Amino acid sequence: MIQKIIRRFFKKNSSAGHDPVILPLRKHGISRERISPCALKVCDELRAQGFAAFVVGGAVRDLLLGMEPKDYDVATGATPEQVRDVFRRSRIIGRRFRIVHVMCGRETIEVTTFRGPAAPPTGEEEEGFDDNHRQSDSGRLLRDNVFGSQYEDAVRRDFTVNALYYDPAKQEVWDYLHGVEDAKHGVLRIIGDAETRYREDPVRMLRAVRLAAKLEFKLDATTKQPIKALADLLQEVPKSRLFDEMLKMFHSGHALASAHRLREEGLHHGLLPLLDVILEQPMGERFITLALQSTDERMREDKPVSPAFLFASLLWHEVLTRWEQYQQQDMRPLPALNEAMDDVIQTQVENLAIPRRYTATMREIWSMQPRFLQRAGQRPFRLIENPKFRAGFDFLLLRCGSGELDAQVGQWWETFQHASDAERERMLIKDEAPPRKRRRRSNKPKSAAQPAQD
Ligand code: ATP
Ligand code: MG
Repeated sequence: MIQKIIRRFFKKNSSAGHDPVILPLRKHGISRERISPCALKVCDELRAQGFAAFVVGGAVRDLLLGMEPKDYDVATGATPEQVRDVFRRSRIIGRRFRIVHVMCGRETIEVTTFRGPAAPPTGEEEEGFDDNHRQSDSGRLLRDNVFGSQYEDAVRRDFTVNALYYDPAKQEVWDYLHGVEDAKHGVLRIIGDAETRYREDPVRMLRAVRLAAKLEFKLDATTKQPIKALADLLQEVPKSRLFDEMLKMFHSGHALASAHRLREEGLHHGLLPLLDVILEQPMGERFITLALQSTDERMREDKPVSPAFLFASLLWHEVLTRWEQYQQQDMRPLPALNEAMDDVIQTQVENLAIPRRYTATMREIWSMQPRFLQRAGQRPFRLIENPKFRAGFDFLLLRCGSGELDAQVGQWWETFQHASDAERERMLIKDEAPPRKRRRRSNKPKSAAQPAQD
């Protein structure tokens, strides 16, 4: 009964008079074979049950541009419960948007029900919420779970190139908002009034930057214009969502381009406030550029990248600056490094909510760095046994590459790792003692944060 009412509701809405331009295969060139088998299966089975089902979003956009989609989304006329009933391996997730994850093998398809124009008034709106949009004072949408027609679903998406629907049965692209035209011209254009859409969800500003960098698109002028003035709205966004978006940005294979665009649009203040300062120091800029370039290369080669390594890199020059400051205040090098790491992590956790599992590794990578300069006695032997040695060493190479350290240090460790025991003994650099003797520590008041290493 309820299902019948819902279907009637969809029918009524879908005849609202907003017809899409429907492009046949020869116009868009996306054949069914290029779609992931899992996405095909999801669409086919939903259709077999009488529901509309289309591949949508980034996958259609990327295929249209000849790129390999990262993941697939499907939009459907079925409700989340109906979708779950069709697929054995599926579950409903999310609160703000209820979506269904359908699993086939190792692949997961995100299935969303066509969404309508925000929640209808319930009569319970608090102050600061307007009747139609359950939103906060600044316009941010807090609830958004109303089903709608396919056209309404298109209009609620972020950019025109992200609002294309692909029908795998007929191999057609349905385009309500001239997304194909924008794709052809390399233009990223927000749907609707830019300021309103950014106020509804400030993360769209970050998405604009990330997608423009990834697709090598220009931001349409009206899409770009309000960003600088609205950048502060990012402060309102839950930190965990910001962190996820940052990770997507830096793991997009276009991290370097994204960082530059972030800065151009003035969006980095709330995210990596230090980026500004760091990029203005030639050595800091070189270090971050190398780190982001190497992340991009690894992504393109399908090699794993570690978020901890990346954030350790982005923040290294801030750690360095503070480390030096503490040493100038007569603190010994290792406690000074600990204090510097504490400061930097504290600031970033407030801004970005970097999860603890990453901050622990970031500290390990950083605190290993002074130990690379100790190449006498048993120290180098102990260092290469450290489970995080590889990350620490790769980090050292970035320091060498940026000119912070003599390249010879990196080469020494490269050779040492692969040398025989006898060769290693010969390589030790006897006069490279730690900067100051440990024994002197016991005479001074103990720092709360003693280094974990020797
Ligand atoms: P990619 O997967 O390449 O990072 P994408 O565009 O597919 O890019 P997803 O996060 O997978 O990004 O989102 C899928 C689709 O959902 C988008 O293409 C867009 O249509 C819609 N979407 C995602 N985030 C938003 C948002 N904040 N506001 C409006 N629509 C959104
Ligand atoms: Mg996607």
